[in-house]
Amino acid sequence: MNTYKINEVFESLQGEGAHTGVPSIFIRLQGCPVGCPWCDTKHTWAVNEDLKVDVTDVMAQNEDTEQWFAHTPEQLLALFKTHGYTANNIILTGGEPCMYDLTALSTVLLENGYSVQVETSGTYEILTHKDTWITVSPKVNMPGKRDVLKSALLRANEIKHPVAMQKHIEELDEVLLLLEGTETPKPLIYLQPISMQKRATELCIKTCIARNWRLSLQTHKFLGIE
Ligand code: SF4
Repeated sequence: MNTYKINEVFESLQGEGAHTGVPSIFIRLQGCPVGCPWCDTKHTWAVNEDLKVDVTDVMAQNEDTEQWFAHTPEQLLALFKTHGYTANNIILTGGEPCMYDLTALSTVLLENGYSVQVETSGTYEILTHKDTWITVSPKVNMPGKRDVLKSALLRANEIKHPVAMQKHIEELDEVLLLLEGTETPKPLIYLQPISMQKRATELCIKTCIARNWRLSLQTHKFLGIE
């Protein structure tokens, strides 16, 4: 049976990248070994079997915790109904969702009329239905020492890169070398200023204009929503 370990499920608007503003149900999967120092979901890193709880405990809580529940795709569909969710786009995020084989989950969701997006660091093979929209946010030289995979970049519909300084643009340039000479359609490229700092934002704007890339802002933070 395909069961997924889930930190939280909620409905909101997609705040970043190509689908900004799209009503979405977020499924946050538990577990990530990448170790980005500025990660704002560190509570998803560990998968502690002692912190497995019932879905009702997770759905009732209003704060970030390391607790998680296990659900099958069919149980998730029932959960959406129970909570009256109406968004028809699903975002599989984390943590690092690609630690899991997402094929069964994405297939059931697509068969039930949802569109599906995966947000990944690009450091795992991406196993999901072919119609899934893939957002790779390449995490380079992180403490977890996982390489960004060429196969993940080749599968990306969009690459969304967090930027605080010039070094991060150079890291992205290095990652994009992996796509040179390949025949697949080139992904959209978004730069996203880390924490919306002024200098980072100015650098992103300047670079986007120079290279015809796109700017991604964390609009959910402007709006004060999750
Ligand atoms: Fe956090 Fe994502 Fe980095 Fe994992 S890959 S440490 S969840 S920012």
